[in-house]
Amino acid sequence: MDAPERFEQLIAFLSSNLPQPVEQQPDETGGIVFTGGSPAEVVAHLTSSRVAIAEYAGAWDTPYAFTMKPRRVGIVRWRRLPDTELMNAVTQLIKGARDMRLARYRTCRFCEKLQPPEWMHDEDLCVWCADREAGVVH
Ligand SMILES: [Zn+2]
Repeated sequence: MDAPERFEQLIAFLSSNLPQPVEQQPDETGGIVFTGGSPAEVVAHLTSSRVAIAEYAGAWDTPYAFTMKPRRVGIVRWRRLPDTELMNAVTQLIKGARDMRLARYRTCRFCEKLQPPEWMHDEDLCVWCADREAGVVH
């Protein structure tokens, strides 16, 4: 299989194997950034030679500006691997990144919802309940 065909195959593979829903955004060099999950769980960056898998992560620079800082777990040079091994490797990286991400979720002690770390005010209080509680105090 030639490279453009495999590139297309990888797009289809990532679209269906990342946590759903999957968003696709082009990068500046002809590659594609895939973000899977809602809230986001796994980020995949596909270029003409590599596919990089990362655990979704980010931080608030200010209360209104969130910066995405994915933690990369692995890069596969997809042109160098046969199809089956390539798909297996990418599948395992996606699974590992997702497990790491989900392990960081915490349950809020007030609303009892499981939230990703960027939505937690502290260890067991989400930002919405923290806001509400602060409102009650005043
Ligand atoms: Zn809460």
